[in-house]
Amino acid sequence: MTSERSNRAAVSEHLLAELEARAGDFASLADRIWEYAELGFSEKRSAADQIAILEREGFRIRDNIAGMPTAFVAEAGEGGPVIGFLGEFDALANLSQVPGLAEQKPLSADQPGHGCGHHLLGTGSALAAASVAATLKQQGLPGRVRYYACPAEEGGSGKVFMARAGAFDDLDAAFSWHPSSFWGVYASDTLAVIHAIFSFSGQSSHAAASPHLGRSALDAAELMNVGVNFLREHMLPEARVHYAFRDAGGIAANVVQASSALSYVIRAPNLSEVLSLFERVKDVGRGAALMTGTQVEIKVESGVSNVLPNSVLETLLDNQIQQIGGTPFTTQDFAIADTFAATFTTDQVRHSIRTFGGGIPARRSLHEGIVPFDGKPTRMPVSTDVGDVSWLTPTGRVWGPCYAIGTSYHSWQMVAQGKLAAAHKGMLQAARALALAGLNALGDPELLGRARLELEERRNGEPYVCPIPAEVSPALPA
Ligand SMILES: [Zn+2]
Repeated sequence: MTSERSNRAAVSEHLLAELEARAGDFASLADRIWEYAELGFSEKRSAADQIAILEREGFRIRDNIAGMPTAFVAEAGEGGPVIGFLGEFDALANLSQVPGLAEQKPLSADQPGHGCGHHLLGTGSALAAASVAATLKQQGLPGRVRYYACPAEEGGSGKVFMARAGAFDDLDAAFSWHPSSFWGVYASDTLAVIHAIFSFSGQSSHAAASPHLGRSALDAAELMNVGVNFLREHMLPEARVHYAFRDAGGIAANVVQASSALSYVIRAPNLSEVLSLFERVKDVGRGAALMTGTQVEIKVESGVSNVLPNSVLETLLDNQIQQIGGTPFTTQDFAIADTFAATFTTDQVRHSIRTFGGGIPARRSLHEGIVPFDGKPTRMPVSTDVGDVSWLTPTGRVWGPCYAIGTSYHSWQMVAQGKLAAAHKGMLQAARALALAGLNALGDPELLGRARLELEERRNGEPYVCPIPAEVSPALPA
């Protein structure tokens, strides 16, 4: 037993040395992806650079997964169980920002920026995969490791299309992380979501001379929104419904508008609840069409399932985080983070700590410690396509401490901090936890069995149903 334990410690040490040896190359890769700042499904250069580095590491590449040119799976190793590290690398529109500057200033107007840290997310996961693969090879251990390059997390549901194509079906476990202001296990469930477009068509007419001949699609859209606002009182308290006008019919007030379109985003704790709420929203849309003598066409654009947390994998990840310890930020890291902290309101800092930090005191601008893990998931009222992976294979995640405490997601401050030394340190911490947990899981079939059993229990007999209908394909750019 003792020799087995010391052998395991030696292998872990070897793994961390492999990771350290690659840290510089992967930090440069993250910086390049930050600079490319490519939107979902257009991440061509970001994907090509990841493929190049993983091919050099001896990975076998399968690309164009589910018909998405920037989706690929890289695999290394032979035999044994299969574990996967999930990566993302898409940027957000109109968030270009000068790096390192604590003042809002675009690098170039109207350009995208990495406002959710996905340049670090994909790179950190790829680094974990490369380090595990090198260790398996060097130690002659069985097991396969995969890096999943998942495009368009921001609204494109890349992982859902990969799930629909069966890309995760033979995985024994998946690991991922998200850049954050905190270091610890990311044990929360999220909301399932459906994105749908409601298009109304009516009859145009002169609004003064012959209004009785017109059938207003704009009226239908307005009535639908009013109807949904009344529906809110009678839905689950955790549910969310948001809308936006895609088409208001035109700018001429003296014309009866013949077309309109609304974008609806509907969220609920799980997929069956979101689907039943969606049916009620559809009824409101049909009612609005009936009231106005117009027609409505309803199209699902995308959707994701809720995340099923996995306490077996989360406990495994927490054990690694405890061994790795806190993050060694320098005086210089704190000095820069302080300049960003000065741009946050007290409410932003409080919200950040309440959501991610589990009540840790924020006396400093960066998180040096570890968020305590109590084994219980919290609910986050957001949605992610990691949800669909978590229905198919046990999935565990961590937060990496990359940004000043109080940094909002999708903000210029997050873009600005994306290439700082602190961001690289947070990414390395996450990669270490993921790599150690992945290597441990590969050598522990009993643990993988328990993780699978927990998944079955959480699914509670429900089969995985893809939230995106079979006829809907990825929204690739023209
Ligand atoms: Zn994100």
